[in-house]
Amino acid sequence: MTNLEHQYVNGQPKRGGGKVHTLVNPATGLPIEEIAYATADDVDAAVQAAGKAFLSWSRLTPATRSEHLHALANQMSLKVPVFAALETKQTGKTIRMSTEFDVPGSLDNIRFFAGAARNRQGLAAGQYMDGTTSMTRREALGVIGSIAPWNYPLQMAVWKILPAIAAGNTIVLKPSELTPGTAWLLADCAAAAGLPDGVLNVVVGSGRETGEAIVNHKSVAMVSFTGSTAVGRHIMGMASQSAKRVHLELGGKAPFVVFDDADIEAAARGAVAASTINGGQDCTAATRAYVHDSVFDHFTGRVAELMDRMIVGDPTDPSTDMGSLISVNHRDRVAGFVDRARQTGATVLSGGYKPELEGAFYRPTLIVGAPQNSEAVQDEIFGPVLTALRFSNDTEAISLANDTEYGLAASAWTSDVDRAMRASDEIEAGCVWINDHIPLVSDMPHGGVKASGFGKDMSIYALEEYTSVKHVMINHDKRPSKAWHGTVFKENRPPSERQ
Ligand code: NAP
Ligand code: MG
Repeated sequence: MTNLEHQYVNGQPKRGGGKVHTLVNPATGLPIEEIAYATADDVDAAVQAAGKAFLSWSRLTPATRSEHLHALANQMSLKVPVFAALETKQTGKTIRMSTEFDVPGSLDNIRFFAGAARNRQGLAAGQYMDGTTSMTRREALGVIGSIAPWNYPLQMAVWKILPAIAAGNTIVLKPSELTPGTAWLLADCAAAAGLPDGVLNVVVGSGRETGEAIVNHKSVAMVSFTGSTAVGRHIMGMASQSAKRVHLELGGKAPFVVFDDADIEAAARGAVAASTINGGQDCTAATRAYVHDSVFDHFTGRVAELMDRMIVGDPTDPSTDMGSLISVNHRDRVAGFVDRARQTGATVLSGGYKPELEGAFYRPTLIVGAPQNSEAVQDEIFGPVLTALRFSNDTEAISLANDTEYGLAASAWTSDVDRAMRASDEIEAGCVWINDHIPLVSDMPHGGVKASGFGKDMSIYALEEYTSVKHVMINHDKRPSKAWHGTVFKENRPPSERQ
């Protein structure tokens, strides 16, 4: 990026008209670059460009749109190391994560939607009323306004952009102000791949100014948001003013239920990986382990041992297991939860402190004995912190798992198929893993229930989110008076029924 041109509007880099802010690498505390934020006028220009592009993009055949999306994936695949290095620099996540998870996951998602663009689904055309034929048209909505979080900047941008444009919409995306780089690079790849100007626009700025300008813009047809539950609620309130469609992927507090028949080594390894992935800054991260009494000490002992061995430090070093959190402020917020849990009598079995490093680092942390109703168990900490509590029977385990306001993801660990089926039925979440926790695939839907929001990312269901279904009914009964007219006025009934 040069000349402060951090906006990407109508196929061109552009300087935002707002204040200039300094972007910081959270692992070093050093500045990355200066960013000129987008104003409401910049958002308006992006929405206008998207609106103009919609007129032709929405009319292309699915096959042609699919070719454009494949071209984007091909262009991006030429720059894998550039994307990975930038993702690590702006987030502090390890280069192993960026290289093995974020970038390939994003590429797979683009390729999935390039294929899915050609797979519109709906009811079969047919004669559902005498003398008529009905069919559906699955239609794009228009300009989609999308707002994304900082934890997986590239993947979240891709999850928002791809289903929307695959379905024939155009988009204005606002990445988090903390992590705008890889969304910009994606827009640049799209321009190089020949995506028509205005189909994908990126505006960089704060939630309050740039984000709200998107949500409140009269020409935005739908707002697709991934972020915290508090901001999601606020956005839903604003969108209600113009009855805009909203799609909300919000916070999570995933339970991790370990039954007494589970493979404890597998569960312990799974818990460590699933609670510390991305520094625990993952909406589906394992956050609350509920463990059967008889295996609690074995499980928590093993988790603590494995956490103690994790290497926390320089995210650019391929041997590092966990990099920094997103900012020093956020790290201090995470540390605050752990300190308060300690003060209220909980025990920290691993971590629970900041290592002596420059930057926003925190150790993987296991807390036992924090009460079910305490903030450490109820609130989204969004850091590498796992709490563990005991249960003594299956009913209790499931009721504890369901006892938060969230419902995004959950896992159950057992070798009993009946228990696995009961857990997948009774746990309130958009995703339940059995004997695993974290993996998602582009082919399957992702999204929550309860305060975790609604709407699906990924899969064919995400395409549906970004379309409306129109019913077209053709009456091919040539008689001027149709059968149902007689219900409205007698004139249309046969003479014998007109008395
Ligand atoms: P956040 O604070 O809610 O921010 C998310 C996005 O919303 C950012 O781009 C932010 O802009 C913007 N925003 C803030 N206030 C706004 C407003 N008044 N109007 C419009 N936009 C506004 O969330 P975060 O801290 O970035 O991300 C962490 C959260 O995301 C966690 O709660 C996590 O669970 C959730 N998440 C959920 C999923 C899922 O699939 N369900 C996936 C990933 C993350 P700024 O640039 O100013 O921050
Ligand atoms: Mg924020």
